[in-house]
Amino acid sequence: MFFIGIFGIESKEKKIKELPNFFCKGCNKEETGQLIKTYNYFHIFFVPVLKWNENYYVLCNYCSTVYEIAKEKGKRLERGEGENITYWDLKEIKKTNGVRICKNCNSQVEDRFVYCPYCGNRLE
Ligand SMILES: [Zn+2]
Ligand SMILES: [Zn+2]
Repeated sequence: MFFIGIFGIESKEKKIKELPNFFCKGCNKEETGQLIKTYNYFHIFFVPVLKWNENYYVLCNYCSTVYEIAKEKGKRLERGEGENITYWDLKEIKKTNGVRICKNCNSQVEDRFVYCPYCGNRLE
C-alpha cells in the first residue's frame, strides 16, 4: 500500500546541552551533566509535524544517575534563559548499578537507561 512507511510515530531522546555545574545528589558535589529531552513525534515523509509527551532529564556525567526535572524548568534551560538547576529541581528516578528487565525484549538493562539499548522500548 502506498502510505506504508510515509508517516508514523516515533519516540526520540535528544541531548540538549552540557550542564557545566549542577549539584549531583549522588556525587554530593558539583559535577558536569547533560540535559536530555525525550519526546514522541508524529512524522510525515520523515518530517516531524507534531511533538508531545516531552520530558526533561539530567544525566550526571560522573556517576550516571538520571534525574527528572520539571518540564517548565527544562524548557527554560533549553531556551538558555540563564537558570541553574538546584538541588530541589532534581528528582532522582534511577539508582546506578541496578539492573532491570525490559518488558518488551526481556533483556537485562542497566538502570541508568531511559530506553532499552537493545530494542528501544521505553523502560518504566
Ligand atoms: Zn553524580
Ligand atoms: Zn528491550
